[in-house]
Amino acid sequence: MRRKIAAGNWKMNGLKASIVELKELITLTKGATCEIVICPPATLIEEMVHVAGDSGIVIGGQDCHWSESGAYTGEISAPMLADVGAKTVILGHSERRSLHHETSDYIRTKVEAAWRADLSAIICVGETEAQRDSGDTLQIIKDQLDGSIPDGATAANTIIAYEPVWAIGTGKIPTYSQIAEVHDFIRVQLVQTYATGEDIRILYGGSVKPSNAAEIFAISNVDGGLVGGASLNATDFAGIVTAAG
Ligand code: PEP
Repeated sequence: MRRKIAAGNWKMNGLKASIVELKELITLTKGATCEIVICPPATLIEEMVHVAGDSGIVIGGQDCHWSESGAYTGEISAPMLADVGAKTVILGHSERRSLHHETSDYIRTKVEAAWRADLSAIICVGETEAQRDSGDTLQIIKDQLDGSIPDGATAANTIIAYEPVWAIGTGKIPTYSQIAEVHDFIRVQLVQTYATGEDIRILYGGSVKPSNAAEIFAISNVDGGLVGGASLNATDFAGIVTAAG
Protein backbone atom coordinates (compact mmCIF):
# COMPACT_ATOMS: atom_id res chain seq x y z
CA MET A 1 0.00 0.00 0.00
CA ARG A 2 1.62 3.25 -1.13
CA ARG A 3 1.02 6.26 1.13
CA LYS A 4 -0.24 9.17 -0.92
CA ILE A 5 1.70 12.43 -1.12
CA ALA A 6 0.48 16.00 -1.50
CA ALA A 7 3.55 18.00 -2.52
CA GLY A 8 3.61 21.74 -3.07
CA ASN A 9 6.14 23.52 -5.27
CA TRP A 10 6.17 27.22 -4.44
CA LYS A 11 8.60 27.98 -7.28
CA MET A 12 9.98 31.56 -7.09
CA ASN A 13 7.17 32.72 -4.83
CA GLY A 14 7.19 33.59 -1.16
CA LEU A 15 8.78 36.04 1.23
CA LYS A 16 9.16 35.53 4.98
CA ALA A 17 5.58 36.78 5.42
CA SER A 18 4.36 33.76 3.41
CA ILE A 19 5.38 31.41 6.21
CA VAL A 20 1.98 32.18 7.68
CA GLU A 21 0.57 29.88 4.96
CA LEU A 22 2.55 26.98 6.41
CA LYS A 23 1.29 27.78 9.92
CA GLU A 24 -2.27 27.75 8.64
CA LEU A 25 -1.66 24.57 6.67
CA ILE A 26 -0.46 22.81 9.82
CA THR A 27 -3.70 23.76 11.55
CA LEU A 28 -5.90 22.81 8.60
CA THR A 29 -4.31 19.44 7.95
CA LYS A 30 -4.14 18.00 11.45
CA GLY A 31 -5.09 14.34 11.23
CA ALA A 32 -4.23 13.96 7.55
CA THR A 33 -2.90 10.52 6.73
CA CYS A 34 -1.09 11.40 3.50
CA GLU A 35 2.47 12.70 3.41
CA ILE A 36 2.62 16.49 3.01
CA VAL A 37 5.63 18.10 1.36
CA ILE A 38 6.30 21.79 0.74
CA CYS A 39 9.19 22.97 -1.43
CA PRO A 40 9.55 26.70 -0.82
CA PRO A 41 12.26 28.95 -2.25
CA ALA A 42 15.66 28.15 -0.72
CA THR A 43 15.57 31.34 1.35
CA LEU A 44 12.64 30.01 3.39
CA ILE A 45 13.67 26.39 3.91
CA GLU A 46 15.41 26.77 7.27
CA GLU A 47 12.63 28.80 8.88
CA MET A 48 9.94 26.54 7.44
CA VAL A 49 11.69 23.45 8.78
CA HIS A 50 11.60 25.14 12.17
CA VAL A 51 7.92 26.10 11.86
CA ALA A 52 6.95 22.63 10.56
CA GLY A 53 8.54 21.16 13.69
CA ASP A 54 6.96 17.81 14.55
CA SER A 55 3.84 18.41 12.42
CA GLY A 56 5.03 15.74 9.98
CA ILE A 57 5.14 18.21 7.08
CA VAL A 58 8.31 17.64 5.08
CA ILE A 59 10.20 20.62 3.68
CA GLY A 60 12.20 20.22 0.49
CA GLY A 61 14.22 22.08 -2.11
CA GLN A 62 13.27 22.83 -5.70
CA ASP A 63 16.64 21.98 -7.27
CA CYS A 64 20.22 21.21 -6.32
CA HIS A 65 23.62 21.14 -7.99
CA TRP A 66 25.39 17.88 -8.86
CA SER A 67 28.49 18.87 -6.90
CA GLU A 68 28.87 19.06 -3.11
CA SER A 69 30.60 22.47 -3.20
CA GLY A 70 32.82 24.59 -5.39
CA ALA A 71 32.99 27.51 -7.79
CA TYR A 72 29.38 27.46 -8.98
CA THR A 73 28.08 30.95 -8.36
CA GLY A 74 24.42 31.09 -7.50
CA GLU A 75 23.96 27.35 -7.07
CA ILE A 76 22.83 25.35 -4.03
CA SER A 77 24.20 21.90 -3.26
CA ALA A 78 22.34 18.92 -1.87
CA PRO A 79 24.38 18.93 1.40
CA MET A 80 23.41 22.60 1.84
CA LEU A 81 19.72 21.70 1.55
CA ALA A 82 20.19 18.83 4.00
CA ASP A 83 22.13 21.11 6.32
CA VAL A 84 19.09 23.38 6.80
CA GLY A 85 16.73 20.46 7.31
CA ALA A 86 15.36 19.68 3.84
CA LYS A 87 14.52 16.02 3.37
CA THR A 88 13.72 15.94 -0.33
CA VAL A 89 14.35 17.89 -3.53
CA ILE A 90 12.48 18.33 -6.81
CA LEU A 91 14.73 17.56 -9.79
CA GLY A 92 14.12 17.82 -13.51
CA HIS A 93 11.06 20.05 -13.24
CA SER A 94 10.00 21.05 -16.77
CA GLU A 95 10.92 24.66 -16.00
CA ARG A 96 14.48 23.48 -15.30
CA ARG A 97 14.47 21.25 -18.38
CA SER A 98 13.21 24.02 -20.69
CA LEU A 99 14.43 27.33 -19.21
CA HIS A 100 17.78 25.98 -18.01
CA HIS A 101 18.27 23.40 -20.77
CA GLU A 102 18.74 20.56 -18.30
CA THR A 103 19.06 17.18 -19.97
CA SER A 104 18.07 13.88 -18.42
CA ASP A 105 21.77 12.92 -18.14
CA TYR A 106 22.43 16.11 -16.20
CA ILE A 107 19.41 15.59 -13.98
CA ARG A 108 20.64 12.08 -13.17
CA THR A 109 23.87 13.54 -11.73
CA LYS A 110 21.77 15.80 -9.50
CA VAL A 111 19.68 12.87 -8.29
CA GLU A 112 22.89 11.06 -7.35
CA ALA A 113 24.00 14.17 -5.44
CA ALA A 114 20.65 14.31 -3.63
CA TRP A 115 20.94 10.66 -2.60
CA ARG A 116 24.51 11.17 -1.36
CA ALA A 117 23.14 13.89 0.93
CA ASP A 118 20.34 11.57 2.14
CA LEU A 119 17.66 13.55 0.35
CA SER A 120 14.97 11.77 -1.59
CA ALA A 121 14.45 12.98 -5.15
CA ILE A 122 11.15 13.96 -6.73
CA ILE A 123 12.05 13.37 -10.38
CA CYS A 124 9.78 15.10 -12.89
CA VAL A 125 8.99 13.83 -16.36
CA GLY A 126 6.45 14.98 -18.92
CA GLU A 127 5.75 15.59 -22.57
CA THR A 128 5.13 18.87 -24.37
CA GLU A 129 1.86 19.45 -26.21
CA ALA A 130 3.60 18.95 -29.57
CA GLN A 131 5.04 15.62 -28.39
CA ARG A 132 1.59 14.48 -27.28
CA ASP A 133 0.01 15.61 -30.54
CA SER A 134 2.55 13.64 -32.52
CA GLY A 135 1.90 10.47 -30.49
CA ASP A 136 5.30 10.43 -28.81
CA THR A 137 4.21 10.74 -25.18
CA LEU A 138 5.14 7.27 -23.94
CA GLN A 139 8.49 7.23 -25.74
CA ILE A 140 9.37 10.66 -24.27
CA ILE A 141 8.41 9.48 -20.79
CA LYS A 142 10.47 6.30 -21.20
CA ASP A 143 13.51 8.27 -22.40
CA GLN A 144 13.22 10.72 -19.50
CA LEU A 145 12.84 7.92 -16.95
CA ASP A 146 15.75 5.93 -18.40
CA GLY A 147 17.96 9.01 -18.56
CA SER A 148 17.07 10.72 -15.29
CA ILE A 149 16.87 7.86 -12.77
CA PRO A 150 20.22 6.46 -11.62
CA ASP A 151 20.70 2.79 -10.79
CA GLY A 152 19.76 2.22 -7.19
CA ALA A 153 16.35 3.91 -7.16
CA THR A 154 14.17 2.65 -4.33
CA ALA A 155 10.80 3.52 -2.89
CA ALA A 156 12.66 5.37 -0.11
CA ASN A 157 14.89 7.59 -2.23
CA THR A 158 12.75 8.24 -5.32
CA ILE A 159 9.37 9.68 -6.18
CA ILE A 160 8.33 10.22 -9.80
CA ALA A 161 6.15 13.16 -10.82
CA TYR A 162 4.38 12.91 -14.17
CA GLU A 163 3.77 16.49 -15.24
CA PRO A 164 2.57 17.08 -18.80
CA VAL A 165 4.30 20.36 -19.68
CA TRP A 166 1.16 21.72 -21.33
CA ALA A 167 -0.87 21.18 -18.15
CA ILE A 168 1.45 23.13 -15.84
CA GLY A 169 -0.06 26.43 -14.79
CA THR A 170 -2.51 26.40 -17.71
CA GLY A 171 -5.70 25.09 -16.15
CA LYS A 172 -5.71 22.33 -18.79
CA ILE A 173 -5.45 18.73 -17.65
CA PRO A 174 -5.29 15.49 -19.60
CA THR A 175 -8.35 13.25 -19.62
CA TYR A 176 -8.39 10.81 -16.74
CA SER A 177 -7.73 7.95 -19.13
CA GLN A 178 -4.68 9.78 -20.51
CA ILE A 179 -3.36 10.21 -16.95
CA ALA A 180 -4.01 6.53 -16.21
CA GLU A 181 -2.27 5.45 -19.42
CA VAL A 182 0.93 7.30 -18.52
CA HIS A 183 0.92 6.36 -14.83
CA ASP A 184 0.33 2.68 -15.67
CA PHE A 185 3.15 2.89 -18.21
CA ILE A 186 5.52 4.45 -15.64
CA ARG A 187 4.60 1.73 -13.14
CA VAL A 188 5.50 -0.98 -15.64
CA GLN A 189 8.85 0.71 -16.33
CA LEU A 190 9.61 1.00 -12.60
CA VAL A 191 8.63 -2.59 -11.83
CA GLN A 192 10.74 -3.89 -14.72
CA THR A 193 13.81 -1.95 -13.63
CA TYR A 194 13.86 -1.62 -9.84
CA ALA A 195 13.35 -4.20 -7.11
CA THR A 196 10.99 -1.88 -5.20
CA GLY A 197 9.41 -0.43 -8.36
CA GLU A 198 5.93 -1.44 -7.22
CA ASP A 199 6.33 0.80 -4.16
CA ILE A 200 7.83 3.91 -5.79
CA ARG A 201 5.22 6.66 -5.64
CA ILE A 202 4.11 8.33 -8.90
CA LEU A 203 2.59 11.79 -8.51
CA TYR A 204 0.52 13.63 -11.08
CA GLY A 205 1.24 17.35 -11.56
CA GLY A 206 -0.39 19.97 -13.74
CA SER A 207 -3.28 22.24 -12.74
CA VAL A 208 -4.31 20.16 -9.71
CA LYS A 209 -6.91 22.07 -7.67
CA PRO A 210 -9.11 21.24 -4.69
CA SER A 211 -11.99 20.74 -7.15
CA ASN A 212 -10.28 18.07 -9.29
CA ALA A 213 -7.82 16.50 -6.84
CA ALA A 214 -10.02 13.70 -5.49
CA GLU A 215 -10.87 12.41 -8.96
CA ILE A 216 -7.26 12.60 -10.12
CA PHE A 217 -5.95 10.86 -6.98
CA ALA A 218 -8.44 8.03 -7.52
CA ILE A 219 -6.89 7.15 -10.90
CA SER A 220 -4.89 3.95 -11.17
CA ASN A 221 -1.25 4.38 -10.09
CA VAL A 222 -1.69 8.02 -9.11
CA ASP A 223 -0.11 8.25 -5.66
CA GLY A 224 -0.81 11.92 -5.06
CA GLY A 225 0.09 15.22 -6.65
CA LEU A 226 2.82 17.76 -7.23
CA VAL A 227 1.07 21.10 -7.06
CA GLY A 228 2.28 24.53 -8.13
CA GLY A 229 -0.17 27.44 -8.03
CA ALA A 230 -2.70 25.88 -5.67
CA SER A 231 -0.01 25.13 -3.08
CA LEU A 232 0.62 28.81 -2.38
CA ASN A 233 -2.61 29.24 -0.46
CA ALA A 234 -3.10 27.17 2.70
CA THR A 235 -6.84 26.72 2.24
CA ASP A 236 -6.50 25.54 -1.37
CA PHE A 237 -3.62 23.22 -0.57
CA ALA A 238 -5.44 21.83 2.49
CA GLY A 239 -8.30 20.91 0.13
CA ILE A 240 -5.83 18.94 -1.97
CA VAL A 241 -4.35 17.30 1.14
CA THR A 242 -7.86 16.24 2.16
CA ALA A 243 -8.35 14.65 -1.27
CA ALA A 244 -5.10 12.71 -0.77
CA GLY A 245 -6.35 11.37 2.55
C1 PEP B 1 4.22 22.48 -11.20
O1 PEP B 1 4.82 23.48 -11.49
O2 PEP B 1 4.86 21.48 -10.82
C2 PEP B 1 2.78 22.47 -11.32
C3 PEP B 1 2.18 21.31 -11.35
O3 PEP B 1 2.15 23.67 -11.41
P1 PEP B 1 0.56 23.94 -11.39
O4 PEP B 1 -0.02 23.11 -10.30
O5 PEP B 1 0.45 25.42 -11.14
O6 PEP B 1 0.05 23.55 -12.74
